[in-house]
Amino acid sequence: MTSVARELSVEHEVVNPATTEVVTTVTQTGVAETNAAIERAAKAFESWRNVAPADRARLLRRFAEAVDAAGEELAQLEVANSGHTIGNARWEAGNVRDVLTYYSAAPERLFGRQIPVAGGIDITFREPLGVVGVIVPWNFPMPIAAWGAAPALAAGNVVVLKPAEQTPLTAIRLESLALEAGLPEGVLQVLPGEGSVVGHRIVTHEAVRKVCFTGSGAVGRQVMAACATQVKRVTLELGGKSPNIVFADADLKLAAARAPYAVFDNAGQDCCARSRLLVESTAYDRFMELFEVAVKGVRVLDPTDERSEVGPLISSTQLERVRSYVDDAEVAFRGSTPSGKGYWYPPTVLTPRDLTGRATQEEIFGPVVSVVRFSSEDEALAIANDTRYGLSGSIWTRDIGRALRVARGLEVGNLSINSNSSVRYSTPFGGFKQSGIGRELGPDALLGFSEEKNVFISTEV
Ligand code: NAD
Repeated sequence: MTSVARELSVEHEVVNPATTEVVTTVTQTGVAETNAAIERAAKAFESWRNVAPADRARLLRRFAEAVDAAGEELAQLEVANSGHTIGNARWEAGNVRDVLTYYSAAPERLFGRQIPVAGGIDITFREPLGVVGVIVPWNFPMPIAAWGAAPALAAGNVVVLKPAEQTPLTAIRLESLALEAGLPEGVLQVLPGEGSVVGHRIVTHEAVRKVCFTGSGAVGRQVMAACATQVKRVTLELGGKSPNIVFADADLKLAAARAPYAVFDNAGQDCCARSRLLVESTAYDRFMELFEVAVKGVRVLDPTDERSEVGPLISSTQLERVRSYVDDAEVAFRGSTPSGKGYWYPPTVLTPRDLTGRATQEEIFGPVVSVVRFSSEDEALAIANDTRYGLSGSIWTRDIGRALRVARGLEVGNLSINSNSSVRYSTPFGGFKQSGIGRELGPDALLGFSEEKNVFISTEV
C-alpha cells in the first residue's frame, strides 16, 4: 500500500493489529492546517446551506452509491487497519451506505411547524448550525464517522471529521468518495491527527458550532468542559458496562448460544458490549454448561479468513490494558486464539467473587465477560443499574410482563429483549448517565444538527 499523501509535518505509522506490520504512514494534520480546514469549511457552508433540498438529497444519494461501489475496498482497508473480521468490515461499509441513504431523504423532510397564535401566523424553521466537528474513536471507524457526518450534512451543515490516530484509512477514503460523488470541496473534510492537536482545535475553534464526540469518558468530559466555555453544542457517545440479563424461563439454549457474540464481537471493543452477564440462580448451572460450549466454539481467526468471527485487539496498549483486568483466580473458562504475531486475546469468562472489582465496574473494552447470579427481578435490576454507565443491555425471558417491567427499570438508552442487537440506523442510539448525552441515528438525528428558529408574521398590518 502506498503512503497516504498529505502536507507533511509528522508521519504516523498505521499498524495491522493481526500481523503487527506497518500498513502505511499517514501525515498528521497540524494546528495551522486544522485552522485552515475549519476556515475552508466555514466558507463552504455559505453555499452548502443554500443548496436546494432536493439537490442536497441527490448528492447524498450519490455519495451512498459511491460507498456502495467501493464497499469491498473499504472493507479490506478496515481489515488491514483495524483487524476487523472481513464479515464485520463488509457490514460496516454497508452501514455507511445505508446511513447516507437514510439521511439523503431528510433534507426534503426537515419540516418546521405552524403554531396557532393571536394576531398573525407563527412558523418555525430548522436552521443548520454551520461547521460541525465529528471526532471518532478507533473501534468502529466507518459507522461512527457516518452516524455523525450524514445527518449533519443532510441538515445543511459542513463537517470536519477527525478519525482516531490508529484508524484513519477508511475515513480518508470516505472523504475522497464524497468528492468523487460531487460534494463540493470543503463540505466534508477528514483531518487525521492527534486528539490533543486536531481534536482539541476542533473543540476550541470559535467557528465550530457543534462537536459530535464518540470516545472515552475521560476525553468526553474534557470535550464537554471545553465546549461549555463557548456554549458550543455537544453530543457525547461514551463508554458502557452493559448487562445481559437471563431469566430462568428464557430460551436458555438460544440465550447461551448468542451471549458470546453480545460481548466478544469486535474483540469486545464495542461500547454496547454486554460485559456483565446476569443469570438467574435456578438456571445458572444449565446456562453455564451451554455457555461454555458456545464460548469455546467462537472462531477467533485471522480476520481475512471468511470464517473468522473475532479478530485481534487494536494495539499492544489495548492488549496490556485488557490483561490488567483479568485475575486468573476468577477465570471460569476461555476460548482460543491463533498463535504467532498480532494483538490476540482469547474470549474470557470470569466468575468474580463479588461485584466491586475493576473487572465488573470498569469498561474493559476487550473480550472479557463477568458472570454473576441473581435471585429475583429486583436483584437483577439493582445489579444491572449499579454502574455509572447506561448505554445498552439485553433481557432474556418468555414473560412479556417481566420483560417490559425490567426494560422500564433499567437506566440505559438501548435495550433488546430476546436479542442482543443494539444499533439500527433508523432508531435512536445513545446513553443514560455517564454513557453520554444526546442521541444519534433515527428519525430525529437532524434535530441535534439544527437550531429551531421561530418567526411571527403579523396579519394586522
Ligand atoms: P478516546 O477518547 O481516547 O479517543 C476518541 C477520539 O477523541 C479520538 O479520535 C482521539 O484522537 C480524540 N481525542 C483524544 N484526546 C482529545 C482531546 N483532548 N480533544 C479532542 N479529541 C480528543 O477513545 P478511544 O480509545 O479512541 O475509543 C474507545 C472509547 O470509545 C471507549 O471508551 C468506548 O466505549 C467509546 N465508544 C463509545 C461509543 C458510543 O457510541 N457510546 C461508540 C464507540 C466507542
